[in-house]
Amino acid sequence: MSKQVRVRFAPSPTGPLHIGGVRTALFNYLFAKKNNGVFFLRIEDTDQNRFVPGAEEYIMEALEWLGISPDETIGKNEKFGPYKQSERKHLYKQYADELINSGNAYYAFDTAEALDLHRKQHEEQGKTFIYNHHNREKLDTSLVISADETAKRIASGEDFVIRFKTPVAETLHLHDIIRGDVKFETSLLDDKVLFKSDGMPTYHLANIVDDHLMETSHVIRGEEWLPSMPLHVLLYRAFGWEAPEFAHLPLIMKPIGNGKLSKRDGDKMGFPVFPLDWKTEEGISSGYREKGFFPEAVVNFLALLGWNDGTEKELFTLQELISAFDLSRVHKSGAKFDPEKNKWFNHQYLIKQKDEDLAKAFLPILNEKGFSNTLEMTKLIKIVSLIKDRAHFVSEFWELSDFFFAAPTAYDEKASKNWKEETPFLMQSLISILEEIGEFSSMNIETIVKDWMTKNEIGMGKVMQPFRLSLVGALKGPHLFDIVELIGKEETINRIQKAIATL
Ligand code: GLU
Repeated sequence: MSKQVRVRFAPSPTGPLHIGGVRTALFNYLFAKKNNGVFFLRIEDTDQNRFVPGAEEYIMEALEWLGISPDETIGKNEKFGPYKQSERKHLYKQYADELINSGNAYYAFDTAEALDLHRKQHEEQGKTFIYNHHNREKLDTSLVISADETAKRIASGEDFVIRFKTPVAETLHLHDIIRGDVKFETSLLDDKVLFKSDGMPTYHLANIVDDHLMETSHVIRGEEWLPSMPLHVLLYRAFGWEAPEFAHLPLIMKPIGNGKLSKRDGDKMGFPVFPLDWKTEEGISSGYREKGFFPEAVVNFLALLGWNDGTEKELFTLQELISAFDLSRVHKSGAKFDPEKNKWFNHQYLIKQKDEDLAKAFLPILNEKGFSNTLEMTKLIKIVSLIKDRAHFVSEFWELSDFFFAAPTAYDEKASKNWKEETPFLMQSLISILEEIGEFSSMNIETIVKDWMTKNEIGMGKVMQPFRLSLVGALKGPHLFDIVELIGKEETINRIQKAIATL
């Protein structure tokens, strides 16, 4: 590649960033880093009606949390700033004028009512009204009225828009890095609005002007923008600019069925589709961060939504993703979103964390349960190391470990049925054995207890099951002797006595 790679993520701040948008940002980031290029963030806020306060900050915070912050953006290395389109407003008019002067665009004065009427009349004849070469010369445009008249109407303050004059009957042979060769017939396109009399450009004009001025080398974006590709290429041509290369990423599909994953699916189906919580008056849309996902896990599973490195490898650090990433390996077909797999990824990252860090993350939960100040950190670290294999999230730690902190208050009903007539006697003997043990370590206790059972020909299940039931309240949990060591001799004996009295 001769030109410097410069790619952008260009969201419109119309709400929280959907997971599809995050994936677009990630693929741009990976592509930039892989090619020693620049990844920049541009806020496309030309549509003031759809502007949502807080969305811009949300986008920046989400990228930062994920560890994929842009190299250039608002307030950061503003080489081609401003990076927010509403602050570039003054720039666009001259480009719209340039297209008018070169005959590639025209003024249109049709009112909303007039356009509605055309639509209705077409419908009555079973047709669809499209503002294009078929009728642009029958409408209220500068293509049919004189230059003088046009100038007068504009000067008098009449509302107008500037539309692109799409070329007629041309087949565009374009190339998309992911989709390969794609063909478009220009006659099927409509004459899109580029500029409005309120002084604001539309998405199409602003996007092309900015990608040109900001020296974008590759446009990597969602498949929903593929239909805009011919217009964008025609705009570059009309300006006499070199177009960037294009890559349209596959859609992200619902976990079940064939539809596209929507913003509403998340809370409806019980999994997040947003990076961070998004609070509105109607409630909270939950985010990965607040649900306890590790950012590295989110980055990892998003990278595999529509891409793989050609092997079975699934676990990638960000660095590994950067070196393995290749746009030509992005799939064309939609990528199914699998919430269970996302949890699996989180588990993989959870077990990789340092026990000490996990213990620290567990502390606030223990605090809430009222147990944190009775605890030694070394013990807590040990507990975490014993249970983390069974957890997807730190939030599951309490349920997996509550018996380390307090004696059971109830005993599992089914397991209690194994509490036989001889059990109290066996448990009493077990207590005497435990009382005598000097070095109260998991291994030593296990050896002594098992020796005692062997010598007296006591079946394993006869002791081990009621023993576990007494300590845990159910037949679950990690290695029993590890639990015994951690809760200590006195507490172990107390719990057995309590079980004898209760069961
Ligand atoms: N502002 C557009 C969006 O919201 C950007 C599309 C593009 O990348 O060209 O997704």
